Amino acid sequence: MEKVAILTSGGDAPGMNAAIWAAIKLAAVNGTQVVGVEGGYDGLIDGSFRPLTKSADGGAGLRPVAGLAWTAGTGGTFLGSSRCPRFLEPKNRANAAAQLREAAIGGLIVIGGNGSLTGAHLLALEHPDLRVIGVPASIDNDIGGTLDALGVDTALNTIIDACDRISDTARSHHRAVILEVMGRRSGYLAMASAVAATADAVILPEETRTEDEIRARLEELIRRSFAPGSDKRRVLIIKAEGVAVPTTRLARQLQDQLADIPNVTVRATILGHLVRGGHPSYHDRMLAGRLALAAMTAFHDDHTDLMTGWNSPIGTPTADANVRLIELADMVSETKAMLDGSSPIVQRRIQLLNKVREVLAL
Ligand code: ADP
Repeated sequence: MEKVAILTSGGDAPGMNAAIWAAIKLAAVNGTQVVGVEGGYDGLIDGSFRPLTKSADGGAGLRPVAGLAWTAGTGGTFLGSSRCPRFLEPKNRANAAAQLREAAIGGLIVIGGNGSLTGAHLLALEHPDLRVIGVPASIDNDIGGTLDALGVDTALNTIIDACDRISDTARSHHRAVILEVMGRRSGYLAMASAVAATADAVILPEETRTEDEIRARLEELIRRSFAPGSDKRRVLIIKAEGVAVPTTRLARQLQDQLADIPNVTVRATILGHLVRGGHPSYHDRMLAGRLALAAMTAFHDDHTDLMTGWNSPIGTPTADANVRLIELADMVSETKAMLDGSSPIVQRRIQLLNKVREVLAL
């Protein structure tokens, strides 16, 4: 009977559990045993495996082991995740491959972000006897070759909910709020949530403005918003964590600069890891099912070194019109271009933002 392993690695994202659950069920109906790897690449190197399927009672078929069904609608990853520096070394990847062979496992599904998928690419290149397929999962939406990743939609819904709540209280007190959201190298969450939450300004790591320029622009915005005759009652500024200006310092300095306006306060709120958790949205559960289906199909079709991509302009079509199979090497180069700003996707995002910026501030 064929066996496939599955692991989650890097930053956790809502929808990872839904993807694991979908993969288990899809494999089971194909008679493929699924083995869970605990704790990401650390567990792979150390052979921390546990069965996720078992023989169906009295028959030759397979079914998921008991006690897992509840996980599908939860955030995080029940298999656990890790940052595993050991996986950067070829000899440790060779140990990981040996663990799979020893357990008679023919392939590995890696659910994770661009780092984890880069590791998956190297494992596939160095060990072509194994079938390695990636599923993109990252709340930052910073994975090349896919327009969406598991967790992005849920994280955006969480941020928008926080924006709405903070706006309720800010409107009652003529407050300006700087809300920091996750995104060390990618401002996607900040930009998308700013538009959806009708924020007044957004600050992204992809921009090149200096701290003084940012502060001057925000001061002008707050003064204009709370000037006599304006009916604005709150100013909401969304800032990505990767912008090299501490959020609390920015709020404090703006408060000092605005001391001459009575009754206006500037507050900082940092959402941090709150944005990572929570039940996956409908969209993330749907994405999990469809990306897992394409991944399991690719495994059964003997493919390797691929990732499943959502609405990607590149890659090979699958039976699902919205899902393509992307070479992991292309994911690596597209991600690099996204993060250094040379990617057309990032350039389009900045152009769009420049158009949106003036509208946001009205
Ligand atoms: P994410 O997958 O969320 O982007 P990381 O970038 O921290 O998170 O990567 C998660 C893990 O993937 C790393 O701890 C490491 O084990 C593996 N990894 C990341 N980059 C590489 C690489 N260049 N080569 C091999 N393994 C890598």
